[in-house]
Amino acid sequence: MPVGHWHPVALTSLETASRAAVGARGDPDDLLRLLLNAPGRAARLTHVERVPARQGVTADWPAWVAPALVERLRASGVDLPWRHQVSAAEHARAGRSVVVATGTASGKSLAYLLPAVTAVLEGTATPNGRGAAALYLSPTKALAADQLHHLSELAVPGLRAATYDGDTPMEERDWARAHAGYLLTNPDMLHRSLLPGHPRWAPFLRALRYVVVDECHGYRGVFGSHVAQVLRRLRRICAFYGAAPVFVLASATVSDPATSAYRLVGLPVEAVTDDASPRGAAVFALWEPPWTSRRGERGAPVRRTAAAESAELLADLVMRGARAVTFVRSRRGAEAVSLATRRVLAEVDPALPGRVAAYRAGYLPEERRELERGLRSGSLLGLAATTALELGVDVAGLDAVLLAGYPGTRASLWQQAGRAGRAGRGSLAVLVARDDPLDTFLVHHPEAIFGQPVEATVLDPDNPYIVGPHLAAAAAELPLTDADLALFGPAAAEAVTDLQRRGLLRRRPTGWYWTRPERAADLADIRGATGTPVRLVEEGTGRLLGTVDADAAHSAAHAGAVYLHQGETYVIRSLDLAESVALAQPAEPDFVTTTRDVTQVQLLGTDRSQEWGRARLCFGPVAVTRQVVGFLRTRVLTGEVIAEVPLDLPPRLLRTRAVWWTAPEDVLTAAGLAPAKVAGAVHAAEHAAIGLLPLVATCDRWDVGGVSTAAHPDTGLATVVVYDGHPGGAGFAERGYEQALRWLSATRAAIAACECETGCPSCVQSPKCGNGNTPLDKAGALRLLGVLLDDVSPDPTGSSAERTS
Ligand SMILES: [Zn+2]
Ligand SMILES: [Zn+2]
Repeated sequence: MPVGHWHPVALTSLETASRAAVGARGDPDDLLRLLLNAPGRAARLTHVERVPARQGVTADWPAWVAPALVERLRASGVDLPWRHQVSAAEHARAGRSVVVATGTASGKSLAYLLPAVTAVLEGTATPNGRGAAALYLSPTKALAADQLHHLSELAVPGLRAATYDGDTPMEERDWARAHAGYLLTNPDMLHRSLLPGHPRWAPFLRALRYVVVDECHGYRGVFGSHVAQVLRRLRRICAFYGAAPVFVLASATVSDPATSAYRLVGLPVEAVTDDASPRGAAVFALWEPPWTSRRGERGAPVRRTAAAESAELLADLVMRGARAVTFVRSRRGAEAVSLATRRVLAEVDPALPGRVAAYRAGYLPEERRELERGLRSGSLLGLAATTALELGVDVAGLDAVLLAGYPGTRASLWQQAGRAGRAGRGSLAVLVARDDPLDTFLVHHPEAIFGQPVEATVLDPDNPYIVGPHLAAAAAELPLTDADLALFGPAAAEAVTDLQRRGLLRRRPTGWYWTRPERAADLADIRGATGTPVRLVEEGTGRLLGTVDADAAHSAAHAGAVYLHQGETYVIRSLDLAESVALAQPAEPDFVTTTRDVTQVQLLGTDRSQEWGRARLCFGPVAVTRQVVGFLRTRVLTGEVIAEVPLDLPPRLLRTRAVWWTAPEDVLTAAGLAPAKVAGAVHAAEHAAIGLLPLVATCDRWDVGGVSTAAHPDTGLATVVVYDGHPGGAGFAERGYEQALRWLSATRAAIAACECETGCPSCVQSPKCGNGNTPLDKAGALRLLGVLLDDVSPDPTGSSAERTS
């Protein structure tokens, strides 16, 4: 059936027809019972949430939609659009930028295809055949390739669509530039190729009516801030050619999508959030792996890894004939889960291991098609996948989804869970907690997942470290005028002066000019790299494998590091910082490496502050000195630390932003902390707080760092600092400042929820602690956070964690 890959909406009708054939295999309650049906399993289930089914609401095709498009959509199985698709399309058609933020498989693509394809088809009537054009942006090449594939299967007569990315051959690039009405690319290409070479794209840009920003919730943090500036450059160049495209954004379900979209594109954006697509009843289980007999650092008890636990659950599902995907955060993890699942299955039936596979980024479109076909036909039952699968692979009709660890945001959680039961059938999702404070908190506080709006997408396009390079790139594209500066935000004026001072821009009566021989666009690496990159060279062959960001080299490419590059694993033999080169050797170790660093923070000023009862909460610029002092070798599947190796690397300086709180003497006394106990209490609170920040900011635990002292030299008080790990900040620490009550309440609840006695990786131990997780005082941290929070918000039940802001 050729339309199989197309649209979730199309699949609904197809799958309904074939539902009888699927049978009761996928009943979610049956599957959950199956998972619980083994000794000791019942105690691991911490919560079951039942999400009721929802009826779909359709709307009529708007009268303006091109008849050829309606006909092709009908032929592919879409009889009528869902109401939210039409609402979003109507906004776009009326010239209002719009973001559609609805669930996985709710058919967001129709929201932009209706206006964009209609406009492009209408434009074919003009003499040059391209009176209107649409630009589609996706965060990955894979997603753009899939979209093109869907479009070609839809086969709308007269629609000329093409992808334009790093893999596009030269002659196809020329064709795309000259003829494509619907161009699919990514922000990287826009930044490096399309915008710097805009004169060659003039006919396309002049005709540009719609810019589609797909998966826009992915544009967060530093990357999102860069993309926001790239889009401002695009708007300026379009205006030069007389075009003012309407933006249509597609997002996962997030809080306040209109605000995030506004920050991303810099224009007012309407939001459509009322999901009118049908949904089958879902059962969502929260699962905490058992303690093992193994002892971790400082004798701490450790739980079984989410990877090992998920492999066992996946094997059970596969044995039952259910189709299931396990989402794992790392490639190495996905491969380990697949391998462990096969091993379990091999003991049961030699035919079963062949029905489980691993999936990760970097697969070719044909390979993805093959996996899709396998899952659909049932020849493949189990898949262990990285989040790459969230984008670009259409796996409809899964019976169950296992999440090996919280994926970092509730948006991703729902996105991944939504992969099951897409066709309106019932489905099972299981979140298996990892050994860290955030996961511990979530499996014991289901209301933080199910009773909360999904978090907002955090980005900070006004970071001067990000604005500067894009102003240089903009000036190279077209001289920059005073009037242009407003477009680039409040940091632009100072940034342009700075570029002038550094001799990168030259002021002339008609504006600022880029006068240097090098490419201005090279100043900004939109994926967040800074400094002179370290070259990664294969030992023996001298082959250049790629580059690593200078700042990341210390933690990712030190001697002994296990390094993943385009799906291949290497072990770094040596890192020469003077020459900016690292020698790598292909290898297949069964361990991963994690660095540990020691950190000092200098508080440079206070931008915002508030009294917090007797304590004080601040946000402002900081100078962070970080030094990687060693690394751990950890087994992928068991989490067992097999070695700790010291490293001798120089400290690095990072200027960024931080949130910090200070606790005066009387708070410490109230918390029953004698002077000798303060360091352990603030250290434990700091570790847990870093772990919990992703709950309120869309960051990863690795995007932020922290430091704590019993008496900080800049405050003279017990101080806990949590900083953004990117130059200039990425908005995460600021979010922590704004959401401090919710953040620290959750931090306290996470520590309290852990059953260990004196601290473990599930609560206050941190894998990246440069001080070997000592001193740590779990009970002291609980009392200290208790006093801080009760001062601000006296609440005997401690339920302040669940209050929305
Ligand atoms: Zn613990
Ligand atoms: Zn530490």
